[in-house]
Amino acid sequence: MSIKDTARKMIFWDILQGMALTFKYMWTKPITMQYPNERWIPADQFRGQVALVRRPDTPDKDLCVGCCLCVRVCPSNAIRMETSVDENNRKRIDEYNLDVTRCIFCALCVEICPVKALVSTDLFETATYSRQELLRNKETLLKQGHAWRERKEKERAQGIAPQTVVK
Ligand code: SF4
Ligand code: SF4
Repeated sequence: MSIKDTARKMIFWDILQGMALTFKYMWTKPITMQYPNERWIPADQFRGQVALVRRPDTPDKDLCVGCCLCVRVCPSNAIRMETSVDENNRKRIDEYNLDVTRCIFCALCVEICPVKALVSTDLFETATYSRQELLRNKETLLKQGHAWRERKEKERAQGIAPQTVVK
């Protein structure tokens, strides 16, 4: 070992260097976020949990036309749906189920939907005690989609831009 290395060890040079760095950052503004007390609003393009929506002017009528494109495009087979034909020869969505445990949030289903009945929300917290809660049916997906849309509209009205931190 060289004399320089020995001298460094004797004065605890590495520790002093580390402490200097610690003191330097003690006086700067923290860049970490105190989650969950502070929350980040994801960008509009964020690919979070997928949800269903209806048109605001026809809230009782499904926007989904039952084309099954989302089912076919899904790379992880997360979507299952059942349809039937109504008295006007139009497709009716009897069941629409999404298994969040399988979903990889690729948003291919959202992109392929011809009528924009699916949306990529900014919801990313999926932790739960029950696996059953991650199997979303049509009603849950609609509730989730409309709650998200309402919240986004409120945020826009209040001038809260995406990627800001809300405390
Ligand atoms: S986001 Fe991707 S994985 Fe999830 S349901 Fe849609 S297509 Fe399937
Ligand atoms: S792609 Fe859109 S319209 Fe077609 S079944 Fe899926 S949600 Fe419905």
